[in-house]
Amino acid sequence: MLRRLFCRALVLVAAVVGFAASAPAAEKLKVLIVDGQNNHNWQGTTPVMKKELEQSGRFTVDVATSPPKGQDMAGFKPDFKAYDVVLSNYNGEEWSAETKQALLDYVNGGGGFVVIHAANNSFGGWPEYNRMIGLGGWGGRNEKSGPYVRFRDGKIVRDESAGPGGHHGKQHPFQVVVRNAEHPITAGMPTTWMHAQDELYDKLRGPAEAIDVLATAYADPATGGSGEHEPMIFTVAYGKGRVFHTPMGHSPEAMHCVGFITTLLRGTEWAATGKVTLTEIPKDFPKPDQVSVRGGRFE
Ligand code: ZN
Repeated sequence: MLRRLFCRALVLVAAVVGFAASAPAAEKLKVLIVDGQNNHNWQGTTPVMKKELEQSGRFTVDVATSPPKGQDMAGFKPDFKAYDVVLSNYNGEEWSAETKQALLDYVNGGGGFVVIHAANNSFGGWPEYNRMIGLGGWGGRNEKSGPYVRFRDGKIVRDESAGPGGHHGKQHPFQVVVRNAEHPITAGMPTTWMHAQDELYDKLRGPAEAIDVLATAYADPATGGSGEHEPMIFTVAYGKGRVFHTPMGHSPEAMHCVGFITTLLRGTEWAATGKVTLTEIPKDFPKPDQVSVRGGRFE
């Protein structure tokens, strides 16, 4: 009897130890969203991303909001190093030299960085930021900033022709096409899916060093686009860090797209860890010719 009790106790101990051993894998990743200035509705988009990231069960999210435009930025010093990944929803005035250096050091040292839509408009005159994000728009960007990057004849090409960086046509739903399904962010993702109404950024320019274009979208001249297949999901290697960049996400409504949400979760996890465990494709994922949105009215 005693022996049997002892055995049962051992089994119990083993079960507890086993559980403890598996706990770190389930530990949540810490995300810091940076916002506070943007020519977009950051007050509307940050909560959408925060909610989706938290609801996945994989992340906890804090938000660092900068002072408003025209106010002293000296005190804006987010503690980037305390996080697994920093997500920029910021398009505004320059940060202090100290804060800019802290972001570079963080990513250089192996931190994750996520760039959403107009975050690639910011800091046009900051060369290291441009290297980190790969491609950007507006902010004085032109041929001196680097090439356009397009998908032509089955491959990614760099187009050095002169012209401004940053443009978009009329907002509309558009099809996203996966060009590299080997990457953890796009592995198992349907090859084509219809993104909800959004601005299709075209003519982005930048150093585009160590860039890996995973998906593109055709910027149709009929809606005012460039007539090129433009990068929509891509990564950039910067120092020891990983950068995930999507030009999608103009509005809260565009972020309700299930394809955007899936991409955001996978991209953020990959930037944080280099892996993607959120591999399940949601049942309501968009079809090649059909938009799918969650939460709230789509306009
Ligand atoms: Zn926009």
